[in-house]
Amino acid sequence: MLENSSRTELESLGEFGLIDLLTSHIKIHHTSTLKGVGDDAAVLHHENKRTVVSTDLLLEGVHFDLSYFPLKHLGYKAIVVNLSDIYAMNATPKQVTVSIGVSSKFSLEAIEDLYAGMLLACNRYEVDLVGGDTSSSKQGLVISVTAIGEANESDLVYRDGAKPNDLLCVTGDLGGAYIGFQLLEREKRVFLSNPEVQPDLEGKDYIVERQLKPEARKDIIQLFKDIDVKPTSMIDISDGLASEIMHLCSKSKVGMNLHEEKIPIDPQTYETARDFDLDPTLTALSGGEDYELLFTVSQADFDKIKSQPDITIIGYVTEASEGINMISKSGNKHALKAQGWKAF
Ligand code: ADP
Ligand code: MG
Repeated sequence: MLENSSRTELESLGEFGLIDLLTSHIKIHHTSTLKGVGDDAAVLHHENKRTVVSTDLLLEGVHFDLSYFPLKHLGYKAIVVNLSDIYAMNATPKQVTVSIGVSSKFSLEAIEDLYAGMLLACNRYEVDLVGGDTSSSKQGLVISVTAIGEANESDLVYRDGAKPNDLLCVTGDLGGAYIGFQLLEREKRVFLSNPEVQPDLEGKDYIVERQLKPEARKDIIQLFKDIDVKPTSMIDISDGLASEIMHLCSKSKVGMNLHEEKIPIDPQTYETARDFDLDPTLTALSGGEDYELLFTVSQADFDKIKSQPDITIIGYVTEASEGINMISKSGNKHALKAQGWKAF
């Protein structure tokens, strides 16, 4: 879809006019949404389930750069990264609220693009946008999304359940979003020094998409149900594999051995990392924003997990006293260092 090219000043609409426009295309998917947008609060009804809630705050210049991030993609990503946190609890997201702070540099059309991306994600993942808040901001764009999900109490998976001898598993492949980010940053620098030069992203669709249009692993939560596996612990990969492994280990009070040769890295990620003189393993360990799921399962589930194309066993859980290690491709054991992608 083409982005809007005309410009309507937000001032001409006022807050309520803007809210009305933004919320007019909302579709409700769930009977658990008793009341969505339009009253002082939304009303939800999650029957006999547990309610799972997660919030993220995204600030222009800190978490995203609009010089290469199309607003529609940003809206999509803002929703998806929140849903990922709900899936990481082995729960199903059902509703979201969206709060925005917008400066006068944005037109109505720009904010409509942002919402088009958000609603696209809501429809794809079948979640209801049930409310939010709208304010002007002095500078830049502020987005806060809260995702609300449900799960049977017995299905919830926390970070603290990993046990020695469990298998450490990850979905999809890692490092792509970070390499996509490096590529976009490079093209931005080239553009700033010479605006005549067109960005060179040819053959890089996969990694650019990993950065600009990530997906959350809804399919894996369904797969767990289908093959009757409940992970013993789980986390989504927002900061990088190393840092998420550390989280599982510290919450579960265990150690881990990660096998470098098992870390799933897509060929495009691998080659582009090499072009940037970056170690592909390091991009997977420290890159972040892949929104894959990292989890542990009991050895008893090995047969159910081993042949799943989207799941890779990358290591196993040990006693805490053994520490957190990576066994390198050459067979050496190194203590793993977390170098997450810090917002500050
Ligand atoms: P209040 O004054 O109680 O904060 P608002 O006028 O801000 O109410 O909001 C009116 C309705 O519109 C509420 O249901 C609110 O949840 C919803 N809403 C406000 N801003 C947004 C937004 N950016 N996205 C979605 N819904 C919104
Ligand atoms: Mg309000």
